[in-house]
Amino acid sequence: MVTRPNEATSHEFNPWLRVTSLIEDAGKVLGLNEGLVKRIVTPERVLEVAVPVRLDSGQVEMFAGWRIQHDTSRGPGKGGIRFHQSVNADEIAALSADMSIKCAVVNIPYGGAKGGVKVDPSTLSRGELERLTRRYAFSIAPMIGPDRDIPAPDINTDTQVMSWIMDTVSMLRGHNTPGVVTGKPLAIGGTLGHAGATSLGVTICASALLQRMNRLANEQRVVVQGYGKVGAPLVQLLSARGMKIVGIADVKGAIHVPGGIDPTALAKHFAEAGTVVGYPGSDFVASDQLFTIPSDIAIPAALGGVITEEVASSMAASIVVEAANGPTTGEGAAVLASRNIPVIPDVLANAGGVVASYFEWAQDLQGFMWEPELFHQRLEKFMHDAFNHIWQRHKDLGLTLRDTAIVAGVERIAEATELRGLFP
Ligand code: GLU
Repeated sequence: MVTRPNEATSHEFNPWLRVTSLIEDAGKVLGLNEGLVKRIVTPERVLEVAVPVRLDSGQVEMFAGWRIQHDTSRGPGKGGIRFHQSVNADEIAALSADMSIKCAVVNIPYGGAKGGVKVDPSTLSRGELERLTRRYAFSIAPMIGPDRDIPAPDINTDTQVMSWIMDTVSMLRGHNTPGVVTGKPLAIGGTLGHAGATSLGVTICASALLQRMNRLANEQRVVVQGYGKVGAPLVQLLSARGMKIVGIADVKGAIHVPGGIDPTALAKHFAEAGTVVGYPGSDFVASDQLFTIPSDIAIPAALGGVITEEVASSMAASIVVEAANGPTTGEGAAVLASRNIPVIPDVLANAGGVVASYFEWAQDLQGFMWEPELFHQRLEKFMHDAFNHIWQRHKDLGLTLRDTAIVAGVERIAEATELRGLFP
């Protein structure tokens, strides 16, 4: 298993090598000593679990799962759990480090963690999915808890999966433990506003950047990759701010609608067809051509590693907002920078989700639910404060927005690490 720095040797895109080199570079900018940088880079705790599942056929199938706590100097670990066939230790380690930085960038009292199971959940029945989730939750249970590490939804996991995890841990502990996961349904300690919070944060960041660049929202054409938990609400929110969604992709393909998509009509079409493809009046486009559609803003809101050198070279948009985690490779980022295309990095752009998780957790610990207005007011404040902080530092440091965000995050992690000292 490759989860430690310098162990990965593959020349293919390796998200772990990418994030470790970003943290190391940030350490140099901040003048941190080498030992401190090593401490910040190295994941604190790595758990790999075998997940046996009895299939409906009676056969037993084995799956591999991970939970990785990257850094807990600023608070308990925090980060989602994804179910996807491409999950591996490197990817989860990289995403756990992204979470450490993300939580520091938006200044919420958490460290970073991430989990995942290597499985294509579309091949499982509901019963199989529940058994897989519960067995995985049981296996990582010693590592998680409201003051230890708090999972949340990520790719292919939802409120139902969170309910099963919360129930499994509650059964094990012998008492109700709502604060062990966030992104739960309202009926069992979830919060109004969690659904769509990532998309709201993306919208706030995109709007703030447009304002800084003196560009009007209603003159922007947007392409969005992904029409899931983040992409679908995003299409609604951006349209409500006057932006025109001209292209959108899902796993089945992409569509181009030069005149702009009607978000309500698209939601209706998707509910019936199960894909954006075939939306009335749209042209079909090959998925890998989405970012060549004439547009002003490109928003990857699905998987990682999609904006490669080649995609960045033919990128039609003049702004990229990373709603997905790790959508841009190192080479892709270099091309975008050389083309002067600003990128709002994932650790800032998509942090609305984890801020919402923080609010849900705080309400669960308090045993007192907030008014929805308070939730939205506070979410907006956290996102605006984070954007303003990164923007100001970006101007002062003269680095890209991504490099600035990593520096700002690592700075806060380094401060906490140094204040706490080294045990024993
Ligand atoms: N999966 C989301 C993310 O990558 C949310 C994590 C959380 O709320 O803990 O930021």
